[in-house]
Amino acid sequence: MIEGLRSFLPEDAYRVVELTYLHNKWRKTETLNMIPSENVTSPLVDMVYMSDMMHRYAEGMPFKRFYQGNIYVDQLEVLASKIVADLFKAKYVDLRPISGTIANGAAFHVLTGGGGGKALVAPVYAGSHVSHTKYGILGALRIEEIPLPFDAEEMNIDVDKAVRQIREIKPDLVILGGSVYLFPHPVSELSEAVEEVDGKLLYDAAHVLGLIAGGKFHDPLREGAHIVTSSTHKTFPGPQGGLMMTNDEKIYKKFKKVIFPVFVSNHHLHRLGATAITALEMKYFGKEYAEQTIRNAKALAEHLHTYGFKVLGEKRGFTESHQVVLDVREFGGGAPVAELLERANIITNKNMIPGDTPEMVKRPSGLRLGTQELTRWGMKEREMEQVAEFFKRIIIDKEPPDKVGAEVKEFRKQFLKIHYTFELPDDAFREFEKLPLLY
Ligand SMILES: *Cc1c(COP(=O)(O)O)cnc(C)c1O
Repeated sequence: MIEGLRSFLPEDAYRVVELTYLHNKWRKTETLNMIPSENVTSPLVDMVYMSDMMHRYAEGMPFKRFYQGNIYVDQLEVLASKIVADLFKAKYVDLRPISGTIANGAAFHVLTGGGGGKALVAPVYAGSHVSHTKYGILGALRIEEIPLPFDAEEMNIDVDKAVRQIREIKPDLVILGGSVYLFPHPVSELSEAVEEVDGKLLYDAAHVLGLIAGGKFHDPLREGAHIVTSSTHKTFPGPQGGLMMTNDEKIYKKFKKVIFPVFVSNHHLHRLGATAITALEMKYFGKEYAEQTIRNAKALAEHLHTYGFKVLGEKRGFTESHQVVLDVREFGGGAPVAELLERANIITNKNMIPGDTPEMVKRPSGLRLGTQELTRWGMKEREMEQVAEFFKRIIIDKEPPDKVGAEVKEFRKQFLKIHYTFELPDDAFREFEKLPLLY
């Protein structure tokens, strides 16, 4: 398809185009994408994203910029913020963080008055994100990381012990939400103790923002979180980016002053419209999408368990989110299993699980799976059974991955259309495709 470009381009330019094309073809049409922190944007989102705004600057607030040329950007930023605020019933939204990590950095900065102090976070093996740790932005801000008590059987924070710990340590900050995340963390259960010690509760919704948008899993702002930070590209199927939401005017005003100029200069303006369209997809189709994603995760977990895999969270029915977590020690650990699956066009990621020590970060015992993207490509419970069978044949029966991989490609061909977005006629994009060239 791109072969025709070869004679017009220097060799390395052609190679760049070719590698991009090959990646797109593989990941968009041939693989089962099961990394729980990823997703795929709809054609409408892509169209809005591929915009001149990707080259522009708009430092400052709408209508009070440091740069000219933003008469449409100003209106778009205000509208996008309103659309996102309405979706999550939040009083204040800031879409300027360019990633979840940046949103966390700015929020930690605000809640600790520029750094220092103490934060309680879920232990890394239990799914906290690197930005919540001494190795990440929390540590860079000299905030002490103290692990919350975790119950491995429940795959959740131990509420009674955590309440006692909050009263004893009086942290500035309690961080809930995580990256290995099967069951909702106890936001309302801990919020009272956090209030008592005059701390702040930050909920990091990066993984589950799309489930929250669909009215599933959690409603952290109403359950007692003072501030919600997030990525916008995991279960929430937008372009890569971040956001902050709060109902607290003081927190919002401080955040506004910290995100720019401390954490971003330009905020990647083409994200704004694309994120707003994604929010509208969630408004109209989010409930159905979130429900199907969770049903698919439960079905996948059940089938994998039936085939003999060790699926975490059995006591609680395996999962209430988009994730399924396997203990794959008996097959050599997360790394070799993930590589084997990749050879069969199934894309997953290795992950630490309870029992793993920090030194095991590169050789963890677990494998983390997500059903959100398969769901967007239109798969339902029946397909989860087929996916689990692929896993069994590759990992347990040790069939050659290339052979199963060819079947995976065939199977994937039935699912090439993105669901849970607005139905548009096939030629809807023809005019817009030319737009970036109109100068
Ligand atoms: C992915 C993730 C982040 C950070 O996301 P980026 O947008 O990649 O910076 C933050 N917190 C949690 C819990 C995550 O899972």
